[in-house]
Amino acid sequence: MFENTIAAISTSLQDGAISIIRLSGDQAIEITQKIFDRNIMNAKSHTIHYGFIIDQDKNPVDEVLISIFRAPKTYTREDIVEINCHGGTFITRKILSMVLSAGADLAKPGEFTQRAFYHGRIDLSQAEAVQDMIEASNNTAATMAIHGIKGSVKKLLQPLIDDLMDIIAQIEVNIDYPEYEDVEQLTTNDLLPKTNDWLEKIDHILSRVQTGQMLKKGIDTIIVGKPNVGKSSLLNALLEEDKAIVTDIAGTTRDLVEGQIHIGSVQLNLIDTAGIRKSNDKIEQIGIERTKQEISKADVILEIRDIRDQQNKNKDSMQTALKMIKGKDVPIITVLNKVDLISTPLPNTKDVSRGTIIETSAVTGKGMQELKSELLKLAGFSENQSIYMARERHIHNLLNVKESLKRAASYLNSTSPQLELFAEELRGASDELGEITGKISSDDLLGKIFSGFCIGK
Ligand code: GDP
Repeated sequence: MFENTIAAISTSLQDGAISIIRLSGDQAIEITQKIFDRNIMNAKSHTIHYGFIIDQDKNPVDEVLISIFRAPKTYTREDIVEINCHGGTFITRKILSMVLSAGADLAKPGEFTQRAFYHGRIDLSQAEAVQDMIEASNNTAATMAIHGIKGSVKKLLQPLIDDLMDIIAQIEVNIDYPEYEDVEQLTTNDLLPKTNDWLEKIDHILSRVQTGQMLKKGIDTIIVGKPNVGKSSLLNALLEEDKAIVTDIAGTTRDLVEGQIHIGSVQLNLIDTAGIRKSNDKIEQIGIERTKQEISKADVILEIRDIRDQQNKNKDSMQTALKMIKGKDVPIITVLNKVDLISTPLPNTKDVSRGTIIETSAVTGKGMQELKSELLKLAGFSENQSIYMARERHIHNLLNVKESLKRAASYLNSTSPQLELFAEELRGASDELGEITGKISSDDLLGKIFSGFCIGK
């Protein structure tokens, strides 16, 4: 399918013990032979060969190990050669340039994976998972990525696509060949429960991919409360427990993130609104605006109070802020801080009508573990549930599937069911699902996806 042979440095370009230059294509072995001092033209697949890379004057450039993988049992399903050379950037670049002079083209970002996809070695969601694996910032993301590579998305969606296709085919036969008695005539009574069942499945998948997406970027946790209730102290206590470095992610949309902690394999991005509010009045205004924005984007809100205010039943400006917060569909944990300063425990702190309430002390560390596990619970994370790879593209597709199915159901609900329109919506839904696994995908879409890869993958 591809006429040229591509090459790239597949390891990250920095000084290290070993670097790998990878070639893929019909000419991979022949091109390597031109710069290698041992004969590998007849080398068997999946073998490793010791020798020297040599320049035009037969001078040795580097001592290397060369792995030969012959098509089709390779990553791209083409012949692949991997040159394991010494890891300095100079020598790695030099060998790459020799490979290019010998006839290979420099691979574009993601081109190896793109070839794997075009040759049917992996589907689109798996290809994307490879990219996620490269970019994975934490354990959970890496685990999700490996699930993606193994094709869990496909496994999940394929039965749904098959089911939709079956029904579409059956309706088409019903409409086009009404005289064909072998095929059962589908009615609203058959189709409506099925459609509702599909909708339920899509909702389930959506909720899991949304959790997956949240876990990949980390759970954005915003800390709000009056001055002096202990917001910064709690933030520091959480960070210290995790021995995390307070990160300053300047220049990103998350520039308000004060730090990241890891609970198990889940990352929490902590955003302290105290950092947003500054003393000056004008800045205060901006601060409030930004707080509102942050709240609307947050996955979880930590509302911090001084436990003694609570005791005095203070109705303060926090109530107004809370209303503002509660208008949003975001889980809230109320934290009653400074519990070390009261002598008798509070009655009724577990007042369920106010949501989750936890007593803490940033000074003694009391309640911190409880707070952490509650954060995970409210963020919708449970270790036992499977989480699926999530990308904006997938979510967009899934939401479209949902809309199509809803419209499909409405065609059944009308007094005279319109099966043709129903089938049309099912076709739309299955096309959208196909886009996730790459069955039906325009070149534009593919180009866009693969260009997000790093070179050498
Ligand atoms: P913020 O304005 O909400 O960020 O509050 P700070 O974290 O700056 O804390 C205000 C004051 O309360 C500081 O003097 C802290 O040392 C103190 N403080 C914070 N948390 C606790 C706590 O749990 N117990 C006690 N005794 N003091 C605390």
